[in-house]
Amino acid sequence: MRKALFKIITLIGIFIIAFSKLYGQDEFQIIQSKIDDYLKAEVKNDLLTRSIAADWPRQLKDGSYTDINYLSKIETAWPPLLHLKRLNYLTLGFVIKNNQYFNNQEVLASIVCGLRYWYAQNPSSNNWFQNDIAVPTAIGEILILFNHNHLQLPVSLQDSLLQRMQQGNVYKSIGANKLDIATHMLYRACITKDKTLMTTALKQAFYPISFTSREGLQYDYSYLQHGPQLQIASYGEVFLKGEYKVASWVQGTSYELSADKLKILNSYLINSYLKTIRGRYIDFNTEGRGISRNDILDKKSITEASVNNSLLGLAKKSGPENTDLINEAQDRINQIQASSFKILPSHTHFWKADYTLHTRQAYSFNVRTVSKRTVRTEVGNEENLLGKFLPDGSTNIQRSGAEYFNIMPIWEWDKIPGITSRDYQIDQPFTIEWGERGVGSFTGGVSDSLYGASVYDFNYNEVTAKKAWFFFDKQVVCLGAGINSFASQNIVTTVNQSWLKGKVLAYADEKIIRVKSKKSISKPIWIWHDSIGYYFPDSAQLQITNQKQKGSRAKINASRSKSAIAGKVFKMWFNHGVDPVDATYAYIVRPGISQQEMKSNKQQEIKILSNSKTMQAVKNETLNILQVVFYEAGVLIDENVTITVDQPCIVLVKNVATKNPEIHLADPTQKLKELNIAISTKMMKTEDKRLLVLPKDNFAGSTMSYIIY
Ligand code: CA
Repeated sequence: MRKALFKIITLIGIFIIAFSKLYGQDEFQIIQSKIDDYLKAEVKNDLLTRSIAADWPRQLKDGSYTDINYLSKIETAWPPLLHLKRLNYLTLGFVIKNNQYFNNQEVLASIVCGLRYWYAQNPSSNNWFQNDIAVPTAIGEILILFNHNHLQLPVSLQDSLLQRMQQGNVYKSIGANKLDIATHMLYRACITKDKTLMTTALKQAFYPISFTSREGLQYDYSYLQHGPQLQIASYGEVFLKGEYKVASWVQGTSYELSADKLKILNSYLINSYLKTIRGRYIDFNTEGRGISRNDILDKKSITEASVNNSLLGLAKKSGPENTDLINEAQDRINQIQASSFKILPSHTHFWKADYTLHTRQAYSFNVRTVSKRTVRTEVGNEENLLGKFLPDGSTNIQRSGAEYFNIMPIWEWDKIPGITSRDYQIDQPFTIEWGERGVGSFTGGVSDSLYGASVYDFNYNEVTAKKAWFFFDKQVVCLGAGINSFASQNIVTTVNQSWLKGKVLAYADEKIIRVKSKKSISKPIWIWHDSIGYYFPDSAQLQITNQKQKGSRAKINASRSKSAIAGKVFKMWFNHGVDPVDATYAYIVRPGISQQEMKSNKQQEIKILSNSKTMQAVKNETLNILQVVFYEAGVLIDENVTITVDQPCIVLVKNVATKNPEIHLADPTQKLKELNIAISTKMMKTEDKRLLVLPKDNFAGSTMSYIIY
């Protein structure tokens, strides 16, 4: 009886082992099948046929190509890699059913011959990337295509190539490089059906989906690379696409991305990256030095409509959680829906990146700043040659989204929207490569996720200014104080520099005028252009031009076309003059307002309570919100509320005129451990005094909140 039971248990055991092995093999096949789909989806069949027709005849009998120097070791555009690319094309031609070369046995012989030649020659480059990433990836793709399409390479050749693919140190690499090395490990694991290797490869592939205080995904859900430099698109987009690619391959298998990590990745996609896109175009601040590349702001490439393996397509294949949100974004990008479609109000300050994202249905208003904790927008590889002042409080103000699309070659680069700068005769070249550290520590923002205020204590290029932004529903209030410089140029603060669209109206000296091409206004009340209103509460020296500006792509990106480009630009700036002493500015941006509304609207709900170098404070009476930047310990006294703080900080108070105000506070220096605050409102019986313990470590600079009961 016992023996029989033992036999049964043994049989069940064997069955389980056999089944799990079968199941395991099925998983490798599932993953290979998805990789195979991915590789084939990248192909344009007619282009593939033409490439093969052009290159195949150049192959010699020994498998080499006449036009490739296999001894070359140069770092970029390394010629030997072309050999593997051509074999890759031949393989695709051989396995894609409707291709002219499908199942062509001569092609097959050429591939085998070519791979043998490669193995014997073993070309290598002086650039580690070619040896450790490009070559093993190219070989791996060929082997996957073979394997999945039931083709058999000579066993010894396949084994030798698999051996050769073992390049790169996945553990020591970071970011995209780590993912790339893990990817060719994954190819090997698929071909050899090696579970341990597969587990290791995926652990490393998904490792970057975790928070770091070094380069990569940050605790505030921004993405920094090349030092602590804002790269929410650019490198952040590469990260998203790479991770979703691998996640989509293993989705539905026992290797799939964990729910926790998928949530982090999705959150970065939905709440950070996609929110920087308005309609079809991304915020010019998020692309790093890529801002100097033509068409870079156009995000059509991330949608399924243009490429099968698009970022958003892969995100959907990785899990169904965000399908609706992704489809909505896709409809906005493909302009099937308006730029405002399904946009929900939100406000985020990224305390690790010194960047603020403010989104409303009618507009996006984002601010890029910098501090000694972060790095200025880089110049490198002769890209972004004039972007010296890019992070100095630049404001990306979008309605349709296209306001700045491809304007960069004709921008005046010391008048980037939002910044305060010297006004040079000629745009200044930026010579410090790969990111210059910012200066100043009082840069930050407070946010309750809907509203917020941001501050930039600016000091660069011998110009100083206390710049702050106060964000509400209908408008954003922009204040500057303590503007000083001994430079010999005029110091200017630019309100906007965007494509001219339609007419420009100005209300000054008690009459409405149409600004034709150039205008200096000393007492502006408001300016209107392209459905955006700009109010000026104080008299100021304002200059506007609506003229043709000229430039070229090569001017900002050396390898691009030198052909002249011209277009009409709306440009408006405060002229603080030469040698300003504690100059100030104030303007209110009201995006999404008609000419008619503009004429009657005086922005009475906004009260600027203070605009000095010690304090900047704005109240929105309709929303019952007060926002204060305390550059020094001090007290703000308003008719309804008194706020006292014993340290510099930035404060947002909601429900000001009630007995239960809601307080949000942040420390822009990210250094304070605690802070004393006292608040009293008309409705409160006694003053509320507290010692606040501020967020620390990776959350220093983030907002803390409380409600007074
Ligand atoms: Ca200038």
